Amino acid sequence: VVSLEGIHKFFGPVHALRGVDLTIARGEVCVVIGPSGSGKSTLMCCINQLETISAGRVYLNGELQGYEERGGRFHVLAERQIDAQRRKTGMVFQQFNLFPHKTALQNVIEGPVQVKRMSRAAAKKLGLELLDRVGLNDLADRYPAQLSGGQQQRVAIARALAMEPEIMLFDEPTSALDPELVGEVLDVIKDLAQNGMTMMLVTHEIGFAREVADHLVFMDQGCVVEEGEPRELLANPRNGRTRAFLSKVL
Ligand code: ATP
Ligand code: MG
Repeated sequence: VVSLEGIHKFFGPVHALRGVDLTIARGEVCVVIGPSGSGKSTLMCCINQLETISAGRVYLNGELQGYEERGGRFHVLAERQIDAQRRKTGMVFQQFNLFPHKTALQNVIEGPVQVKRMSRAAAKKLGLELLDRVGLNDLADRYPAQLSGGQQQRVAIARALAMEPEIMLFDEPTSALDPELVGEVLDVIKDLAQNGMTMMLVTHEIGFAREVADHLVFMDQGCVVEEGEPRELLANPRNGRTRAFLSKVL
């Protein structure tokens, strides 16, 4: 589904991504781990064009993202076309970013109604189905402030799913949660994984990665240092930097 080729990203003098190649297949759960500042969030943002890349190519289902090739040259797409591409990815952040003045249901159906021009009735039906899927069918009318962090994050997941993305991108979705609320969010992600959703997940939950990931990627200093089958990689890391990192987090 996603193919990254030679991605570089500079923030001024900071070389945040240094030639990343990565493929995420359809239905695959790709977990990305690595130290703070290694470029995990930046890489995710390059996939859904929240950041523009400095060099390289991003493909989603074979379609080049952000650019089109005409007469042997690359031209930046119009903002409207980039928005259309961006909608094919659903992103969930560490902070839940819900609209505070909208209920759980209103948060979930905002995208389908405003962007997809779905009727209110159809959107409401979809919204309730999605809230049910994340275990919140009885809390549809609550406002974010009336929900726990874990519940808010599950609303955020339902909201991303409402746009029927090709891939879900999760950037440390449980890092802002109290420990007792982490499990309920991981359970929802696991359920999505088992139902064939393609996803990329940045997390420090190594146990979850071992259990759910098909593909584990270790990043350090803007590079993919090592990747492979999770159990194999965790049991026998070949690279010294992977070993050093794992010895700190396991
Ligand atoms: P963490 O685990 O702390 O979330 P990360 O692996 O997600 O870290 P990134 O946030 O991708 O790391 O950052 C990679 C590098 O790019 C860091 O050196 C960071 O300081 C830098 N960086 C990220 N975003 C920006 C920005 N908007 N402007 C300038 N530098 C940035
Ligand atoms: Mg990050």
